[in-house]
Amino acid sequence: MRDRRQTVFLKEMGYTLWRLRQGGGEAEKSKDSAYAKNEEETAPRQRVYSVSGAQKAAREQAWESTQKPMRNMPERSAAISPPPPEALAIHAPEARQESNISPDDRAKAIAPMDWEDLTEAIRECRACELCRYRKQAVPGVGDQAAQWLFIGEGPGAEEDARGEPFVGQAGRLLDAMLSAIGLKRGENVYIANAVKCRPEGNRTPLPPEMAVCRPFLLRQIALLRPAVIVLLGKAATHSVLGDDASLASLRKKTHCFDDIPVVVTYHPAYLLRNLPEKAKAWEDLCLARQLWRGTQTKN
Ligand code: SF4
Repeated sequence: MRDRRQTVFLKEMGYTLWRLRQGGGEAEKSKDSAYAKNEEETAPRQRVYSVSGAQKAAREQAWESTQKPMRNMPERSAAISPPPPEALAIHAPEARQESNISPDDRAKAIAPMDWEDLTEAIRECRACELCRYRKQAVPGVGDQAAQWLFIGEGPGAEEDARGEPFVGQAGRLLDAMLSAIGLKRGENVYIANAVKCRPEGNRTPLPPEMAVCRPFLLRQIALLRPAVIVLLGKAATHSVLGDDASLASLRKKTHCFDDIPVVVTYHPAYLLRNLPEKAKAWEDLCLARQLWRGTQTKN
């Protein structure tokens, strides 16, 4: 069932790393445990946020109104357009604000920033309470002209200490995943997170926290204008697409954000604990690569 690339991929990112994590620190174990719970293909009863029938209808109507034709999309891909940004806030409590600037004013201030100003603004940001637990903010890393954008959840302990996303065991697995499709960190690849500051205890960021941090992520996407976006895990998917459905229902489809094709797959930290899912991640990466190739032939 496996072709050569899949075999290389599984070999590169699988078994050695799987054994390595047995000796991992408590912080990483805690993060991995959280992923083991949060990234599962959850049934509806496991979702944190509920949506009433009327709100769901309004959300779907707004979603429909934002639908745009997709760019350079292979014919066999099922295009799904994104919901409105407000979907993120549905049924979520207010984010605890650490500044008096309104969300609208923040978004307007961030929207025209260049990379330098954006990075500085992220490092100085105190717009939500996650700033209380960070050693430093982690804006992102990579090629600022990259065609590939990978988005994860938020910094863990090691990322918080080093100021770079995906540097622990999950980061090494992500590097192996990149390698399997001919990519390398820093070369035509940019890596970012839904939130730029580490949630205490490596917990999953709350939707209101992701909503407050979202203007930074949107500006990164706008500056990059990547050919393909790969969303790693439920939090990133919720932040970008506004959809908190199970990953199982969102995988194997081509989504769209601002005319950019988007693929959803599992977070590397989840894959470290769930070996069989690596084969699914490989399928997702193959879909992303197919989409990327489609953009190359049409440009
Ligand atoms: S997580 Fe985002 S919004 Fe919150 S303090 Fe950090 S940079 Fe600001």
